[in-house]
Amino acid sequence: MQSAKASKSMKKLLRVERSTGRHWVGDGFPVQTLFSYSNLGEAISPFLLFDYAGPAEFTPTEQRRGVGSHPHRGFETVTIVYSGEVEHRDSSGGGGKIGPGDVQWMTAASGLVHEEFHGHDFARQGGMLEMVQLWVNLPARDKMSPPRYQSISNSQIPAVNLPDKQGIVRVIAGQFDGVEGPAHTFTPVNVWDVRLDGVHETDFAVPDGYTTLLAVLKGSLRIASGDAGSETLGAAEIARFDPAGEHIRIESAQNAAALLLSGEPIREPIVGSGPFVMNSANEIRQAMADYQSGKMGHMA
Ligand code: MN
Repeated sequence: MQSAKASKSMKKLLRVERSTGRHWVGDGFPVQTLFSYSNLGEAISPFLLFDYAGPAEFTPTEQRRGVGSHPHRGFETVTIVYSGEVEHRDSSGGGGKIGPGDVQWMTAASGLVHEEFHGHDFARQGGMLEMVQLWVNLPARDKMSPPRYQSISNSQIPAVNLPDKQGIVRVIAGQFDGVEGPAHTFTPVNVWDVRLDGVHETDFAVPDGYTTLLAVLKGSLRIASGDAGSETLGAAEIARFDPAGEHIRIESAQNAAALLLSGEPIREPIVGSGPFVMNSANEIRQAMADYQSGKMGHMA
């Protein structure tokens, strides 16, 4: 009896994470860091960092706004565009442009050098930029695997309608309600892009033991926090749940856009510096040496 009840348990809210301020990444991305491994460490594994850029209005320009040539090693960067356009180029000759609804899942792994700018057409027209860059860690065994890109267009991302017109879930990675997302991941990760409105209590099943983070980008959500309490979250706030339990409960939603992130924790040391995240200080020194000696490539 006890075990049957326990198997249906709700994940309790541990904490609400908020940005500690806004900073610029290059001259193109006004970013709020909503969570980071630098203070949360393994508590958010396999996720490392959540940067929310915008929403911010940009005036038309012929200049290239963004961030120039820089390296990465040891993890993946996932760029999700809501408004505007982002262009990237990398040292292996790869490149691409993503717009609203599109996702770029970049596996830096052993290392590359890239640049990230506003798309040329978007820069010329000006307009609203809103995007998320999520960093996902790699397990030690995959940190030195070859870099790769997954360019995922809006139309490739399946959308699941929730019952009673409560909203929609776009499955970017992992699985929701039996529907598989297009992104290939190295460890089990779910990235669900969620729109919710007019909710009258709805549960989202998230596996027991998974790190679970609900990032609200727009509108507001009331979530059950456990022991009959609840908490309301607004834009740029993230609920971090206890991994124990099998679902989270949304009590109501007002025109909410959110990312529901969950994944199996990678139980390995996290040692990072700037654009490198490895398992030891030695590996960080090696990453810096490899970058400086050109082993991660150069921009053409
Ligand atoms: Mn980058």
